[in-house]
Amino acid sequence: MGIEQTLMPSPEAWLARARPDDPVFFFCPLRLAQVAARFLSGFPGLVSYAVKANPAPEMIDGLVAAGIRAFDVASPAEMALVRAHCPEAVLHYHNPVRSEAEIAAGQAQGCTSWSVDRRSELEKLRHLPRGTEIAVRLKLPVTGAAYDFGSKFGADPALAAALLRRVVEMGFTPSLTFHPGTQCRTPEPWARYIQAAADVARAAGVTLHRLNVGGGFPSDRGEGHPDLEAIFATIAIAARAAFASPPELVCEPGRGLCAEAFLLVLRVKAVEEAAVFLNDGIYGGMAEWRDLGPMARLRVISSEGLPRGGACRDRVVFGPTCDSLDRLPDPVALPEAIREGDYIVFEGMGAYSRALVTGFNGYGARRIVRMSAAC
Ligand SMILES: *Cc1c(COP(=O)(O)O)cnc(C)c1O
Repeated sequence: MGIEQTLMPSPEAWLARARPDDPVFFFCPLRLAQVAARFLSGFPGLVSYAVKANPAPEMIDGLVAAGIRAFDVASPAEMALVRAHCPEAVLHYHNPVRSEAEIAAGQAQGCTSWSVDRRSELEKLRHLPRGTEIAVRLKLPVTGAAYDFGSKFGADPALAAALLRRVVEMGFTPSLTFHPGTQCRTPEPWARYIQAAADVARAAGVTLHRLNVGGGFPSDRGEGHPDLEAIFATIAIAARAAFASPPELVCEPGRGLCAEAFLLVLRVKAVEEAAVFLNDGIYGGMAEWRDLGPMARLRVISSEGLPRGGACRDRVVFGPTCDSLDRLPDPVALPEAIREGDYIVFEGMGAYSRALVTGFNGYGARRIVRMSAAC
């Protein structure tokens, strides 16, 4: 489906005119540019976008327009997508388990950095050109993240040191990478990981070419605007403190870069005393609510585009499919006055939303409307 454009300055104005019965994402290029500028000017190193968080073509185009040139890709399809929108993009292939066919695709697409977290997968990379950057992925027990990214990938410090030595032995350029866990609200996880990375490099006797501090940068889910600059400052200070001569730094935000750029607007299909039924749910754009919990940044508007104010009451929120699991995990506070046909506008819905839509039962938010530059 091609992107729709509107010059309307707010979703309210567009909804009152279009009155869509299907779920709609609104893409705000200005918000994307603002967040990208914070990363590009504040992060003390290279900023690489983790494509899986939102692979919508308009997101990739918006990031390229904002000056992002490096991308963390996990599959041949993501590589092809990025190349189609930015032929000169720098691709980091950071899915540490790859089939032989995927390795060939990564080479054909010109991936310049490859992560590994186990010996067998490192040996599979032996045919890459000497000097290619191989980033060993380190994991520590998680703290501070909304859920654990280390439970699937990552080598513990002892294995990471052994892998680093082997990377050098094979003639590759050694780097370290980690992911502190998604939605880290405080800088501490990065400080711990950076110190651990320095210890691993020292134990291995290897000088790191680069240190990739992963994603994990938070979005605002209702707790207030995240202090990205405080996280950037901690990362810079921790790197200077931990390494005699700090490696170049890379970060690969997904959520932190893309969340603010999309709003999700759902329509109320039915209202009951204690529940509402919406036209999308956990099998669609709200898939993450199961893992991250409720998100408080929402407002209800009438189909004329007017705000529904007044007292609120908790209601169970059901999605549209015929599956009893299709409900949000916690009740949501909604205005008493909410009516069938109203819209609920959710802010900050760019990350892990459209990317996870299943299409189950024929539902799922896919449509994107691009707001005017002022949105
Ligand atoms: C998913 C992922 C990211 C992005 O994580 P966020 O928490 O969305 O910032 C970065 N790097 C790797 C390797 C990932 O798998």
